[in-house]
Amino acid sequence: MYVFMEPSTTPAGLEIDNENQKMLIEWGDGHLSVYPLYGLRKNCPCVVCRGGHSQMNKFEPEAFFEKDPARMEITSVKQIGNHALQITWHDGHDTGMYRWSTLRELDPENHKELDQ
Ligand SMILES: [Zn+2]
Repeated sequence: MYVFMEPSTTPAGLEIDNENQKMLIEWGDGHLSVYPLYGLRKNCPCVVCRGGHSQMNKFEPEAFFEKDPARMEITSVKQIGNHALQITWHDGHDTGMYRWSTLRELDPENHKELDQ
């Protein structure tokens, strides 16, 4: 079955770089997004990390610009259908299903004004 996917929210490549504390996603439209792991962990979309069902769409992109972030590590990632990425963290936390569309929106480049 052919499913149309929007290039800007469709991953073409993904790289986990625990050593340099980054996750990189290359998108179908050629854009490269670089996510500091601390910010990615802070923006875990699961209900517990978001602080309840009423907060599900409230994210904290400012966490990507934390000046002295705690080290985080990704143990594994798994694609969920064609809409999301499940990330397992070093502390065992794995309930966050990051929608590709959310990740594209969270791209730190979209939130540079928070870098102070
Ligand atoms: Zn979470």
